[in-house]
Amino acid sequence: MTTLIDGNEVAAEIRDGLADGIESLKAEGTTPGLATVLMSDDPASETYVSMKQRDCEEVGINGIHVELDADAPAEELYDTIDDLNADPEVHGILVQMPVPDHVDKRRVLRAIDPVKDVDGFHPENVGRMVAGHARYKPCTPHGIQKLLEAYDVETEGAEAVVVGRSDIVGKPMTNLLIQKAPFGNATTTVCHSRTKDLAGHLADADIVVAAAGVPELVTGDMLKEGATVVDVGINRVDAATEKGYELVGDVEFESAEEVAGKITPVPGGVGPMTRAMLLYNTVKAAGLQTDVPVDL
Ligand code: NDP
Repeated sequence: MTTLIDGNEVAAEIRDGLADGIESLKAEGTTPGLATVLMSDDPASETYVSMKQRDCEEVGINGIHVELDADAPAEELYDTIDDLNADPEVHGILVQMPVPDHVDKRRVLRAIDPVKDVDGFHPENVGRMVAGHARYKPCTPHGIQKLLEAYDVETEGAEAVVVGRSDIVGKPMTNLLIQKAPFGNATTTVCHSRTKDLAGHLADADIVVAAAGVPELVTGDMLKEGATVVDVGINRVDAATEKGYELVGDVEFESAEEVAGKITPVPGGVGPMTRAMLLYNTVKAAGLQTDVPVDL
């Protein structure tokens, strides 16, 4: 029997778990605040940002949204970040990626005050995580950690394969998996577009995290019987639906489900966890910036 890993359910538990912390902050006169900054006309980015704002509203976080023209000078974005860094009502700042080509993405990541960097992408926060004393873990890998823990997936001594080496998913996921206990201690292989034998690596994997952005790259015949399969991919593929497309993961669900012991669906797996962990990091950020204890 394959177990379906329900990201919506675990995300709801994470969100419920924030209530006490938010209440403690409010009792001390602080409403946690998350600023989202959008500098893009991309409909997917617009959707992601509006979902994040809605999530804030639902749990009692103050959502602040700043929208800049996609062709505005880059300085406008840098100045916006400076203003948000200085605003005491803003505890977390998220600049929706990708930013336009004329903007220096690395400068954006460095410009955000590390204590307000709830994405965990500032080099200081990346360094802290790698060194084993993370301030904010990046939302998607942290959400995957929570999913694996919720479903009692043993990482200790497991063979794990991460497909993808991006700064936002693959690299931090790998890093979490190789940390020492309480979570980690997995023997971890990272595959990417230059990997010669993806199937060969997957064949030995007890845990697979697929984050390549390639629709249905991982198929059931590549997997080890009983493996835990986490599908990060969100890919739009043309389909005869009302919208003209459908969302598919990086894993071919039907064939993988036959072989996997536990598997995440798309949608309803990793996506809700990413959103929940952003709220988690924002509450943590508000606690750190006000010295109000928030028990997370
Ligand atoms: P990137 O495009 O930044 O990185 C993709 C990675 O996959 C790269 O390292 C690339 O290798 C590797 N790759 C590409 N093709 C192959 C292949 N054929 N075999 C093995 N590796 C390959 O993507 P992201 O990490 O940002 O996102 C990955 C997917 O996850 C996307 O579908 C994205 O939409 C989704 N996503 C979902 C989230 C969620 O909350 N569910 C959050 C974030 C992302 P190389 O480095 O050599 O180019």
